[in-house]
Amino acid sequence: MQTDYEVLVIGAGVAGICQIKKLQDMGLKALVLEAGGGLGGTWYNNRYPGCRFDSESYTYGFKFSRDLLDAWHWKELFSPQPENLKYLNFVADKFDLHKHIRLNAAVAKMVWDEAARLWTVTLHGGDQLTSRFVITCTGALGVPTMPAYEGMDDFEGPSFHSYHWPHEPLDLTGKRVGVIGTGASGIQIIADIADKVGALTVFQRRPNWSVPLNNRPITEAEMKDIRQRYEEIFAVCAKSNGGFDHLPDRRAYDSVSTDERRKLWDQLYDAPGFALLLANFRETFLEPQANRDLSDYVAERIRARVNDPAVAEKLIPRDHGFGMRRMPMETGYFEAYNQDNVRLVSLLDTPIERVTKTGLQTSAESFEFDVLVYATGFDAMTGAFDQIDIRGVDAQPLKKKWQGSPTTYLGVMVHGFPNMLMVAGPQSVSGSTNYPRAIEVCVDWIGDLLEHARSAGVSRLEAGENAEAAWTQEVIALQEAMPFSKVKSWFTGFNANVQAADAAPRYIAYWGGAPRYTKTLNQVSSEGFRDINMD
Ligand code: NAP
Repeated sequence: MQTDYEVLVIGAGVAGICQIKKLQDMGLKALVLEAGGGLGGTWYNNRYPGCRFDSESYTYGFKFSRDLLDAWHWKELFSPQPENLKYLNFVADKFDLHKHIRLNAAVAKMVWDEAARLWTVTLHGGDQLTSRFVITCTGALGVPTMPAYEGMDDFEGPSFHSYHWPHEPLDLTGKRVGVIGTGASGIQIIADIADKVGALTVFQRRPNWSVPLNNRPITEAEMKDIRQRYEEIFAVCAKSNGGFDHLPDRRAYDSVSTDERRKLWDQLYDAPGFALLLANFRETFLEPQANRDLSDYVAERIRARVNDPAVAEKLIPRDHGFGMRRMPMETGYFEAYNQDNVRLVSLLDTPIERVTKTGLQTSAESFEFDVLVYATGFDAMTGAFDQIDIRGVDAQPLKKKWQGSPTTYLGVMVHGFPNMLMVAGPQSVSGSTNYPRAIEVCVDWIGDLLEHARSAGVSRLEAGENAEAAWTQEVIALQEAMPFSKVKSWFTGFNANVQAADAAPRYIAYWGGAPRYTKTLNQVSSEGFRDINMD
């Protein structure tokens, strides 16, 4: 049966751009449907001050084209949002991808038609398109979540989630600003605006461990050197569990003296990016005592940077060890609290009772603001799927199948949802690693699968039920073996604004590391995708 497209891709972020390039190279009739008014996904939507990579920029760019690697100059070690959006548009220009992307096209529903072996995709607004395959590139963190405080609509000034920071300039000079939330977004915002606003009040619930990003510009000469070393750099990323340009120190923790450890930690604290987390002894992540030692070290560094000891103590996490939640990286975050115009309010001591017309009320005090920012996180990994009414075989809703926790085959397919493929989907390695590195692996694998289907003359692909169960079991076992498995964060599928406090853990990411994930995908394709039913 004739379809409008052979492949529809949902989302024109990093994954969608990479995917459409691949599909164009394969000569398939494909279109990307993007809900937003521009391409770029996370880098289009997040416009808050301080928004930037915490992956080394040169490990974040696509590696599929040598021409592209040679053409682009990353200007900072950790590139800021406007530059990242420029980069993604540069990619789309260079490979003439814009014409394959339909903007302002939010998908409302997709229904599998078993007889015709196609998906019917309905947009908000009513347009319908048919396609043999649908590839979701909907991103890990694109569905912001708001708290449910009484009176939130009453606030008369600008108030918004960090994800919805206005696209037009917002002058904060002299303004009284309240920020709720101290995850990676909140910490970037707070550090960036502290010296620009009149007064800043930070409302922190659970503190997070955070260490310096150590960003700096990249010169022309350095960029030239990076271009020559790209293969080497990507080889390191492929070896690293997190897909980063950092490999662990393989010496046994106990074989190294306390002084020597301290020397290494001093170096890593001042090194760029996730060095202290990823270039450390493996035991600091895996063994309780080593993790406690490192946590104590980082606490000490925080105390040395914050003038008021009482404030410093509030900024030090007590409910989890270093690296046990997704670590925000910072630039001058702790020093911000040394400014007279910045105040930290711990919601553990004095919870918010309600938002008012002019500010908010905690159990102890009322605050007045001109601007109120909710940096309160996302419905990670599965949130974007829940927003679309996805109906598989026998009209089964995906939302129902994934109630509680998702189940997938390799994080790429779902039994009962034929011809639906996911890039950076739940239970893939993307959520736990340097995003684009895992995306390119997944896009290539999907390309191989579609090529395989084309040459075999099949039009229906469905993950086997047992294979899905086995993969999901592996995902669960890996997470349960992780030292952070009992710590509530989006890594363990928890968001206090979505799940009940006593909700069972969810398994939304693959924790076996990027090399093992890539090896598994390669093995599956080399064995002819035998766990995928094809006809
Ligand atoms: P997040 O890490 O989930 O942090 C949300 C913050 O809001 C937490 O401090 C949370 O406190 C607080 N919060 C949530 N609901 C609240 C409520 N009802 N009342 C008071 N406080 C509340 O979200 P995020 O900061 O947006 O970061 C999400 C992820 O995006 C990151 O982990 C990272 O993967 C990615 N990200 C990356 C970068 C980058 O540098 N590349 C930058 C930003 C974000 P509790 O912890 O107590 O719940």
